[in-house]
Parts: sequence; structure tokens; C-alpha cells
Amino acid sequence: MSSFLDEKVLPYVLGGVAVGALGGLALAKLMAKDTSSVEIKAFGVVDPNPRSGWTPTKTGTMHTPALSELASVLNEGMVEDFKSIKAEVVHCPNMQESPFNLAAPGICGSCRLADVGGPPYLIPTVQRDKVYNLVDIAAEIKLPDAAFIGAGAGSSRLTGTNCELMPNSHLATHKIMTHFAKMRDGKPVLERYMSNEFGLLGNLLASDGKRGEVLKITATGRTSEKTFVNAIRTALSAKYGTQPVALGGVFIIGKGKAKLHVMPDFSKTAIQSDAEVDAWLHYYEANAPLIMLCGSLVSYDPGLDLRVEHTHGFSEHGDGGHYHYDTTPEFVEYTGYFSVAETVHRIDAPTATHQVGRD
Ligand code: ZN
Repeated sequence: MSSFLDEKVLPYVLGGVAVGALGGLALAKLMAKDTSSVEIKAFGVVDPNPRSGWTPTKTGTMHTPALSELASVLNEGMVEDFKSIKAEVVHCPNMQESPFNLAAPGICGSCRLADVGGPPYLIPTVQRDKVYNLVDIAAEIKLPDAAFIGAGAGSSRLTGTNCELMPNSHLATHKIMTHFAKMRDGKPVLERYMSNEFGLLGNLLASDGKRGEVLKITATGRTSEKTFVNAIRTALSAKYGTQPVALGGVFIIGKGKAKLHVMPDFSKTAIQSDAEVDAWLHYYEANAPLIMLCGSLVSYDPGLDLRVEHTHGFSEHGDGGHYHYDTTPEFVEYTGYFSVAETVHRIDAPTATHQVGRD
């Protein structure tokens, strides 16, 4: 695996502050080897999408049941979905270690979800000026030292193409363990991504990155049509109804294969429907073990225009992308660790929204 940013560029893109200190011309030069001249011309300014230009952030206060209560709700509610299911409260393992490879030691403390931008900035046609930085998101949700994990789109002005992003960054320590998956010569490839900048959309779990009590869910042998994430969400929804419960976390697919997608470069023609999205995306089967970063699992949308499920995965063997479901239900093994978010923040929501491309 290689990184698209060399050591000379790295210090400039570690944080929004450092990037902000550069002029637009300097940025264009830094990015020149990775982007076409057309894109550089389109980005004459450093931040084409400053916080001051975002639509107003809406914040929802979530219902936060005790972890022990959530464990019993899931033990009962997911019994039809897996041959064996065990939800329990445990102390978070050190997630900086394999197989998790997170930037921060844990997913605990001040947990909140950020739902940034959205598919309307990609579909029907891309809005390339929709560029964000985790540093700005952290400021917006008042957690400046946040550890972030989740699912988003990479910044095309850094990577030179549309791509899947697996944000994994701890602002307090400047440690970035982010990956991105893109199409190269018709095949998906996974690479390291040494920046806090992203594009278009992101579903993020933000926390203090500490170790503490988490909800551990172990599930083997899928027996329903629901995905792992969807089974959890459905069980929560059945119990809590219109009281929204929001989780984020990391799960390992330890055995089996999973259907993932990787977005190719931006479509030259407008995409109008889920069927056209399907035809455009590149789907493939990825091999376990896979590290899945769940940046959104919300039981009920209290009118915030949320993407209620969004998970991206990476691996140590080069597979990565957007998670749909496992393709080996008979012997799949999931081990997940989740935190409960106190608030959900809808940031720079598109004013004209739609439901296309949210699967
Ligand atoms: Zn995705």
C-alpha cells in the first residue's frame, strides 16, 4: 500500500490551520502531481467551502439508554437474525492495536455523530467545491480534540478522483490512520490517506478517543436478510420507536466475505435514480478480516435528514469500500464495539435533498 501524499506535503495537510496558512497558489502547486489542471483552476482558493458558507447546523439530542439495557434489547431483538448473538458490556480493548488499527485507543467519551453534507452534493452531478476538514467538523461539534471514525468521500482535489474514505483520525495526537479506496484500471485499490480533508459527505463518530465501557456485539451465522448494522438498528427501532438511539463504532468481519462498493470517478452524465447509481458503482466481494467503521447507526430520524446507516471498511490486505452485507451468511462472524452518541449534528445539509444513493 502506498500513500498519495509524500513527506514534503504531509505537514501542510495534517490540519486545517496549516492548510489555511498557505496561499491558493501554493496549494495548487502542492496538489499538482495528483490533480488535473482543470481541478486546480477550479480551486483557486484554499477553502472553497468555509464554515461560514455552510447551511446552519441542526443538533438532535438522542435517547441514551444504559449499555446494559441496550445489550438485553439486542440479545432479544436480534435472535431471528443470527444463529448466535451475544450483546454485552465490556471494557473497550486497545483499538490502536490489530485488528482494529484505529488512530485513538478507544471510542469513548463525549460521543456524538456528525452527518456532514450528503449524496445530493454528488448526485445528480458533483459539486466539487464541497470540501470539508475534520478540524472544522470538530470545531462545529465543540470537540476540538476529537477522535473520528466513519464513512465518507475522499477529497478529489487531493486524490485526483472520486473515492471512498474511511476516516480514522485523532486530532489530539495528530495521528491519522485513514484509508481510501478508489478504482484504478477497473480494479478497486486501497491506499493510506494522510489528510483530515474530505469531500461531499461524511458520517462520523466523534469521541474523546478514550477507552471505557462499550457495547460488544458478537454475532455468527446470519439467518435473516438484514445486514449486521440493519439488524441492530431494526431491534433498537422496534424497542424505542420515535425515541432516537444513535450508535457508532467499529466491527470486525472475522470470517467470510462481504459485498462492498467503490465509487468510480465522477459520472460524466447526471445520475437520476438508485438504478443508475447501481449501474455506476463498482461492486465486489471483499475477503475477511475486514475492519468496518460505522459512522452512523440511528434508530429513528427525528427530522434531521439523516443517513441512518453508513459504514466503510478497510483491511490489512488491500480490500476496502462501502459496506453492504456479507455474502457468506452461513459462516460469517461479526465482532462489534459500539458507543452511544449523546447528540447527532446535521452539518451543511443540502437545502434541496433527495433519497437517492443512501443505501
Ligand atoms: Zn459509503
